[in-house]
Amino acid sequence: MGIQKIEVYSVTLAYREPFRIAPGASTESHNVVVKIVTDYGVYGWGESSPSERVTGETAETVIKALDKIAPTLIGMCPLRIEQNIELMDSIVAGNPAAKAAIDIALHDILGKTVRKPLYMVMGGYRTEVLTDITLSIKSPKEMAKDAVKAVKKGFKALKVKVGVNPEEDVERIRLIRKAVGENVEIRIDANQGWTSKQAIEVLNKIEKFNVQFAEQPVPAEDLKGLMEVKRNSPIPIMADESIHSPEDALRLIKAEAVDLINIKLMKSGGIHKAKKIAAIAEAAGIPCMIGCMGESEIGIAAGAHLAAAIKNIQYADLDSDLLLKDKLATKGGTKVKGSMRTFPKQHGLGIKELNYKILGRPLKIYR
Ligand SMILES: [Mg+2]
Repeated sequence: MGIQKIEVYSVTLAYREPFRIAPGASTESHNVVVKIVTDYGVYGWGESSPSERVTGETAETVIKALDKIAPTLIGMCPLRIEQNIELMDSIVAGNPAAKAAIDIALHDILGKTVRKPLYMVMGGYRTEVLTDITLSIKSPKEMAKDAVKAVKKGFKALKVKVGVNPEEDVERIRLIRKAVGENVEIRIDANQGWTSKQAIEVLNKIEKFNVQFAEQPVPAEDLKGLMEVKRNSPIPIMADESIHSPEDALRLIKAEAVDLINIKLMKSGGIHKAKKIAAIAEAAGIPCMIGCMGESEIGIAAGAHLAAAIKNIQYADLDSDLLLKDKLATKGGTKVKGSMRTFPKQHGLGIKELNYKILGRPLKIYR
């Protein structure tokens, strides 16, 4: 039982409209897809959606890292996931988004080998996952219109991007709450855009609009600022850019700097280490969310299976495939109805068919 072949593909997926957050806007997502083929007929799909701003990775660095990693995995048992991760970590440091692609493909293989949907193999705590939908930064009025559209589509939770201008940010939340009423969850994400002083001011002003939690108010490396915001905020504080790994999670929990953690497979290096973050957080009484970068249906399915499997992953922000115009998976993956993601009976991630026009030919084949 061994890994026989690894194919690496480069894909560019266009967003429906420019996706704007505090540090800048994107029009497309440059992802790397891997297919791991075993010597017993089972294969798995994995995906990397690197964010240079968050982990310093690009599609080019992911391809370079995989060029070092992939040859060493040939012949390894695909089910010995922790051994494979240990091997990857011994070959290249960092590069979590590159490693996530391999980790996700190995988990797909795990599900297909035991012939069960992945979330059932990993614990099967839930059968569906409620995701929010993200509102990209626009004028407060335009965002309120986008919010109404999203609620009409059935979304029960909105993730509102803020962090550009404190006064305007307050206005964004006021208008959105007014437009959608009280029965929709509103969570906000400043993407490191505020100083701690600005964050404390804004959070106190928007408390009355019933905001569920506030993500990454201050720059990732500003631990003191994050601690100060948490102490003075009436709204629970979630760390995103500040926490990549299980080690980061432990450090910030010890510093009492966070109320919640946003786990992303592209920061943790995949599902295996994401589970460790969720476990550390659970022991500290800290709920987690699973988020995403610009993944297609493959990476989103991986996040959704994980969220369904693990009790402490209580929130999901798994919407990038819905924000992308291009669909990489033409059949399979998770199903979306309103705010709920459900799982087909297919084994593993459940990805059945990819758009080969978008996928193209493999850039590299390792065997
Ligand atoms: Mg975030």
